[in-house]
Amino acid sequence: GLLSVTQRLKGSLEQELHILLLGLDNAGKTTLLKHLTSEEVSTITPTQGFNIKSVHSHGGFKLNVWDIGGQHSIRPYWKKYLGSTDLLIYVIDSTDQKRFEETGQELAELTEDESLTGVPLLVFANKQDLVTAAPAAEIAEGLSLHTYRDREWQIQACSALSG
Ligand code: GDP
Repeated sequence: GLLSVTQRLKGSLEQELHILLLGLDNAGKTTLLKHLTSEEVSTITPTQGFNIKSVHSHGGFKLNVWDIGGQHSIRPYWKKYLGSTDLLIYVIDSTDQKRFEETGQELAELTEDESLTGVPLLVFANKQDLVTAAPAAEIAEGLSLHTYRDREWQIQACSALSG
């Protein structure tokens, strides 16, 4: 799980690991967060329309979570959170075919940000418990993940609901 990922990245958990957990609204980020950590989630609102959930774990990682869609006007505020990122987790609602293009564009723009150069990417193809979910391989193709050459990436089918 997440712990083995963090251990692989840092070699130990002595140093704090900064993880960004992003995706469109309704992708399943909050549900996923509950499975990744039992820590209390604090929500802060630095600016309108930009709600950040932050988990600071004693186990050695800090998770920042926010919705990424339709935020072009407040993108400058992202910078503060992108800077020291060690791992980017991007969550997709695999049943929401209508928004595949939108979520793909958002991810592409995000990974073009220079602060995220080389940062490993984990994509969760979420909601696989539903029959209408597109398979992870199809989503990977739609996102053109094979063209991401400047970073390690992986796509993982999952159900945040069932864990
Ligand atoms: P967020 O906006 O990205 O934080 O999404 P939420 O975690 O609030 O989830 C949005 C909705 O999708 C909620 O009703 C969740 O119960 C539901 N949901 C999240 N993950 C799954 C999943 O894996 N399977 C199913 N069936 N529903 C899910």
